[in-house]
Amino acid sequence: MENIKKGKIDIDRYRVKENEKVNLKKFPTKRDVNIDKGEVKSAFFPEVIEQLKLYQEKLYAQNTYGLIIVLQAMDAAGKDGTVNHVFANLDPGGVSVASFKQPTTEEKDHDYMWRINKALPPRGNIGIFNRSHYEDVIVTRVHNLISTGQLPRDLIDRNIWMERYEQINNWEKYLHQNGFYMVKIFLHVSKEEQQKRLIDRIFNHEKNWKFSMGDIHEREHWDEYRELYEELLENTSKDRSPWYIVPADNKWFTRYVVALITLGVLKKIDPKFPKLSPEEQKQLERFRDMIKKETDKPLEEIRKEMEKEEK
Ligand code: ATP
Ligand code: MG
Repeated sequence: MENIKKGKIDIDRYRVKENEKVNLKKFPTKRDVNIDKGEVKSAFFPEVIEQLKLYQEKLYAQNTYGLIIVLQAMDAAGKDGTVNHVFANLDPGGVSVASFKQPTTEEKDHDYMWRINKALPPRGNIGIFNRSHYEDVIVTRVHNLISTGQLPRDLIDRNIWMERYEQINNWEKYLHQNGFYMVKIFLHVSKEEQQKRLIDRIFNHEKNWKFSMGDIHEREHWDEYRELYEELLENTSKDRSPWYIVPADNKWFTRYVVALITLGVLKKIDPKFPKLSPEEQKQLERFRDMIKKETDKPLEEIRKEMEKEEK
């Protein structure tokens, strides 16, 4: 276990490198660094959230780049909790969450990217995808949904999944070349931990509503899902839109790592508050002089008092 000082985790350890062969069994599902839970919850996590807020404000103000965070996982790995605990802290005006369930009749009448494209965030915003286009190379495959779907028969051949990876890679590249960054997060939960959480859904009245027989059926396909996830992680992790395999057995740790990954990509985008034009700058100065005449107090002093009050 790696020893950690001041909450700094090297998140690159969870990133899938381009063309890397992925064996999920080699990636940890439990926290694998020596970091104190209490300290993370009381200090490190809130600090990262504060930084995220500042970056989000800049992203929004600059209105140039967009960011998409894709969350994929087995059932009960904590996608909803991650959304609620990490992203719900940000300004709701600049964040949207799209959850992709079984496609509706209307969605099935279109290509698989149609509903995903409709949910893309505008520039300046962060879009969270709770499941995504990756379902169309995962669940579709496990349950052979392609054979009962509406895709023309002559287009279904052995290469269809490789073709889809190519389509996905091209689409993500296109988005990147148009100013939209994407990071993809696979919440890596162990089969034992999933069992505990499903039991909780059965016995805990407040969690009952989350339980579905579907979860049990999907659990029976655990190994198949694992193998298909390995293949997709290998084929679709790119430097410009990487996959991260995040340990998901300890919720507090997962949320901290996801927050750090998000902060990392925002730092890479490096958004800046827009600069005023010389004309706007002059207007601002004129306005400042007007206000000055209204008060005896130095304006800087008024500002400091206001800052103090806000704290
Ligand atoms: P939880 O993790 O809490 O169970 P969830 O994301 O699984 O939440 P559910 O409403 O339980 O939400 O399930 C949504 C279901 O929709 C999943 O089983 C998922 O595989 C399925 N789904 C999503 N996209 C597609 C798709 N393109 N084709 C078929 N099924 C899909
Ligand atoms: Mg589910």
